[in-house]
Amino acid sequence: MFSQFALHERLLKAVAELKFVEPTPVQVAAIPPALEGRDLRVTAQTGSGKTAAFVLPMLNRLIGDAQPRVRIRALILLPTRELAQQTLKEVERFSQFTFIKSGLVTGGEDFKYQAAMLRKVPDVLIGTPGRLIEQLNAGNLDLKEVELLVLDEADRMLDMGFSDDVQRLANECANRAQTLLFSATSGGNGLREMVAAVLRDPQHLRLNSISELNEGTRQQIITADDPAHKERLVHWLLANETYQKAIIFTNTRAQADRLYGRLVASDHKVFVLHGEKDQKDRKLAIDRLKQGGVKILVATDVAARGLDVEGLDLVINFDMPRSGDEYVHRIGRTGRAGNDGLAISLICHNDWNLMSSVERYLKQRFERRVIKELKGVYQGPKKVKASGKAVGAKKKKTDDKKGAAKAPAKRKPVAKRPAASTLVSQDGLAPLKKRKPAEE
Ligand code: AMP
Repeated sequence: MFSQFALHERLLKAVAELKFVEPTPVQVAAIPPALEGRDLRVTAQTGSGKTAAFVLPMLNRLIGDAQPRVRIRALILLPTRELAQQTLKEVERFSQFTFIKSGLVTGGEDFKYQAAMLRKVPDVLIGTPGRLIEQLNAGNLDLKEVELLVLDEADRMLDMGFSDDVQRLANECANRAQTLLFSATSGGNGLREMVAAVLRDPQHLRLNSISELNEGTRQQIITADDPAHKERLVHWLLANETYQKAIIFTNTRAQADRLYGRLVASDHKVFVLHGEKDQKDRKLAIDRLKQGGVKILVATDVAARGLDVEGLDLVINFDMPRSGDEYVHRIGRTGRAGNDGLAISLICHNDWNLMSSVERYLKQRFERRVIKELKGVYQGPKKVKASGKAVGAKKKKTDDKKGAAKAPAKRKPVAKRPAASTLVSQDGLAPLKKRKPAEE
């Protein structure tokens, strides 16, 4: 309930008017510290409800201390015109029962019209960095008394080359009391530098498990006919891939034990971890893996939770995990600290739909890999033409090695958003299966 937040009644009225019932996870996490005035760095996707997470505390600050409109009190920077326009709409919707006025300054719009709007001095200014700098250079913009600065989609602003402009605009807001920085990814060095330059003792809220995925990890799938075929693929991979340490995930204990037996039989030094193993075995397995005495671990999700082993650079999903979050947790173990990692999922016909859902969740397409010596019959679902005639699976790109192509991000409303761990289909495409117990 939004009434859990110490928001002004006029804002709660707007929230009710907009039929927002439950706050989304990013709102739950960010609104209270933002209301306290803290600087925040928030990692959250577009579509997670992050706009309201900064707009509501911002408006609360401006309402609480109503003043005659003589200065710009809040500045929101965004990378694109469209996002700036959307954000303006959101600000206007939330401020509909207040006297707070907002203005927009983006490229592609009439410069003089914007200058006239700026002369009337909005309380909240929303804009893209390039045009704001132009208005600043023309002497039309005074940001000296901005109290709150928001950098939304900061990672994208950097990607688009706005680093210097953003920095300059932040410097112009020299007397600000609070800065909130939002990004969809955990970003690279550029973002870290910006965080250090513009935020003061920030709290870092990570709302997006996708951000845990290391960019140094390649993600591949290999199709398989059945579990026996998957076992042959595992043997091949362990024999042919270069890796320091590998972890193989299965969805069931029985499968973990079976695979473990097969690997031991072929002289691999391997441990198995699942819910039936006691703490002593678990500790032994993890210690050996850490020390390097054992290079391979077969595990179920439950058993491997929280496992952080240095040098783990190969993850094999013998079965596709049952949720996007579980996938991210598994894969997040590799490619840490800037190292390269490889994640390979073995996909039978019963894994395919899950795999596609995870691709949509991550807005990525996994590399399709074929191991010539072990090429099976199953290559993915057959495409059905409008005529109803099945098209050969070979028409699909089964040996595409171009790597993961990103699908365009989609914005969809997030009404009735479930709990954080089930934010799996926020692209609104296809709901992932509800997570079952991780072992059966
Ligand atoms: P955003 O991630 O801020 O772009 O928000 C995505 C969409 O979700 C926008 O259309 C918002 O109006 C909507 N939205 C944000 N928070 C909530 C909520 N708590 N309940 C329902 N819809 C929401």
